[in-house]
Formats: sequence, structure tokens, C-alpha cells
Amino acid sequence: MLWLAALALGACTGRPDPEAHDSFYLIDGRFHTPDQPQKGVTDLLRWRFTREPGDWERDLTPPPPRTLPERVADDTFKVTFINHATVLVQTGGRNILTDPIWSDRASPVQWAGPLRYRAPGLRFEDLPPIDAVVISHNHYDHLDTLTVHRLEQEHAPHFIVPLNNKRHLPGVEEERVTELDWWETAMLDGELRVRALPARHWSRRGLADQNRSFWSGFGVEHDQGWVFFAGDTGYGDHFLRIRARLGTPDLALLPIGAYKPRWFMKENHLSPEDALQARDDLGKPPMLAIHFGTFDLGDDGQTEPVDNLRMARRERGLDEESVWIGDHGESRLFLFQPAPCSESEDASH
Ligand code: ZN
Ligand code: ZN
Repeated sequence: MLWLAALALGACTGRPDPEAHDSFYLIDGRFHTPDQPQKGVTDLLRWRFTREPGDWERDLTPPPPRTLPERVADDTFKVTFINHATVLVQTGGRNILTDPIWSDRASPVQWAGPLRYRAPGLRFEDLPPIDAVVISHNHYDHLDTLTVHRLEQEHAPHFIVPLNNKRHLPGVEEERVTELDWWETAMLDGELRVRALPARHWSRRGLADQNRSFWSGFGVEHDQGWVFFAGDTGYGDHFLRIRARLGTPDLALLPIGAYKPRWFMKENHLSPEDALQARDDLGKPPMLAIHFGTFDLGDDGQTEPVDNLRMARRERGLDEESVWIGDHGESRLFLFQPAPCSESEDASH
């Protein structure tokens, strides 16, 4: 039986200090963080009128039918990059989906708004049973109501979201939604826990609700190790803070797309170079690049983030195992490699 509760448990490598406030403060009901992105409506308009968009080509060829293992247990974890920020993580006998979107548009309506350019790399009907869904924030390319409804009907998973996002999940049974502040955890069946983690981002879904819902990354923590999902984020010192408290993850899912123009995007989105710096800050775990090639959300073209990441990977002498640029739908199996507890002490900053 799956159960959830917000707990303040620490990993062996660093027990979060409940006294150490590393999260939001509220002003007039809106979430703020010390490294808050400062771009506003004027900047948005300036970008809209000076755009130099890259090239995109639409190809919605569906992937072939597939059968994934129903469960993956113990000291391994299987990761399937579906596309954009949607990733399936299978471990500890549980299946967890990040920021699921199968819709044709990342938008409140399906007749306008950012269009999908690549089909999801796994057909929805080929998903194994989904136990938990983590959603990093309420932007439409991450919190897609149509997909949430479909998951609710066909899988009835637990939804784990940052604070004040429950209101964006109408039709989901309330007892299966857990809202977390940064560093808080939800237990999955006593074996796995999901922890909300800092991200440098913002939120908005309607005209007047900017930053009224919180945002986060997530850790999926197993006794043997953990997987880090960064959500949407700009570069900041939070990657160092995460490593200092939790140690180096066994895999980091890091966004690389929608990073241009830099003057507008850099506080909110990692560039490929930023992602490699974030990986260094996290202690150089293997990384999977996400958030590219699916929705046209910045001025970078469809292949530009991946082309630049390949170049940066080569310049740093990194291989394809260390920096995984997955095909849409590609899966890999990893082994947890427990680090000695002392390692995180070296990582403290
Ligand atoms: Zn976002
Ligand atoms: Zn996004």
C-alpha cells in the first residue's frame, strides 16, 4: 500500500537542518526567494518585439509500441527520457513520472499556444503503472491538466507538488496530493522518498497569479542513492547547497533548452554551459539533458541546445556516459553507487 506523509528525514550524507531556512518568504501572498528572477512584463514585451527565433521542424511520428518492465527493484534504476521535462524513473519497485505532458500544446487551450514539435517518445498507453507524479511548477509545459486527468483516470497516482499547487489539480482526489516546501519529503511505501529541492524560477498560469504557487526541483531518494530532477531553473548556488546537504546524486536530470536570449532567459533557464557547471557543482554525477527539442519556448532552435551541449561536452573531454543526450523515448539502466557519508563533508560550501 502506497502512503505519503510530509516528513523531515535526512539522507545519510546530510540531514537537512530544520532550523536552517532555505526556502521562500511571502509578500502579499506571493512566493519570493533570495535569488528571485527579476524579469517582468516590460522585459517580456521587449523580448517579444525583438525576437530572433531559431528553426523548428514539426515531426509528430509516433514512437513504436513498447513494453517497459512493470517494476525495477533494489539497487538499480531505469530512466526513460520521454521528452521535454517528462521522464519516467523506475526504482525501488515504484514508477515515478516527472512533469508529464502528452498534449499537443503547452497551453491552457489546445487551439493556441506553444505547439508540440516532437511526439512523446513513449506512447501514453505504454506507460507501466504510475505510482507517483512529481510536478515542478505550474507553467503549462510542466503542469498539463489534460495529462493530469488522464493519469488520474488510468493510474490514480500520488501527485507531489510544491506548495500551493494543489489548486491546479482539479479532479484529483485530495488525499493523493502532497504539497511540499523545499527540503520536505513525501514517503513512497516506506522505501522511497521524494524531496522537494530549491530551484531558481517563478510561476504563473493566469493573468494575476504570478508567483502565487511555489516551484521546486525534486530528489527521488532510495536507501542506495538518489536521482535529482532539477525542474525548470536558472543557474544559482542552489546546486552547491543541494550537494552540501544531500551529497552527489547518482543521476541529475538537468534542463538545457529555452535559454535564449540570455538577457531574458538566464535567470530562469539553464544554458547547456550552465547545465555542465551545475553538474560540476553537484559533484559531477552522470547527467541526462532535458527540456529541449519539443516545445518552442525560447529563441534557441530545435537542435541548438543539444548541438551546443555536444560541443561543450567535447571541450571538457566528457563522454556520452557522463553527459547523456537521450533520444526521445530512450531508456537506460543505472546502478546506485552508494557514496561514503564522509563525501558530503568535502562538498560542504
Ligand atoms: Zn517554467
Ligand atoms: Zn519549462
